[in-house]
Amino acid sequence: MTKKKNKPKSKSDGPGPPPEQPKRLNKRITYVYPRWNKAVSTAVSPYIGRVYFHPGVTDRDAIREHETHVMGKFTCSDKSCKMKAWSSKMISIVIQKYPGNEYNAIIYNQRCKKCNNLGCLHLDKECYIERVAYRLKQWAGLMMEKPYYAEKKGPPHKSKLCEGCKRGVCRERDGD
Ligand SMILES: [Zn+2]
Ligand SMILES: [Zn+2]
Repeated sequence: MTKKKNKPKSKSDGPGPPPEQPKRLNKRITYVYPRWNKAVSTAVSPYIGRVYFHPGVTDRDAIREHETHVMGKFTCSDKSCKMKAWSSKMISIVIQKYPGNEYNAIIYNQRCKKCNNLGCLHLDKECYIERVAYRLKQWAGLMMEKPYYAEKKGPPHKSKLCEGCKRGVCRERDGD
């Protein structure tokens, strides 16, 4: 009779439910994407040279400013919420130009319509690059055809869930 070797038990406490994770709700009102500057710069550099992401999100030194929208998806920051995700073609974005070929773009969060918590943004990168690059080229004096924007379909924009509307920077604000 061979004696089976006792495997050292790695779990001393035995199986059980994992400890409850504390809810960490998102508190971000705005998002910025300095890490996508390389792609923006690549898109505009043949026309206006390289551009740089302005680090501060203050508009104090901004020379120009433009409000528009980008597309993307949100997930609810409350993991226990039944509303898992929603997409929007009306995500509020403010593009700003600064001296020295600098710019930045501030994107405003949206709230979950079920629980009113802030969302976690998964931004459509292509759309972002296109909108920002278009605006920078236009500001540089390049006359261009308006890019084709996807038809505005889907549910109407809900101002009370949009952080851009609350701050008066969203073009879709409807005053409700
Ligand atoms: Zn929710
Ligand atoms: Zn809005």
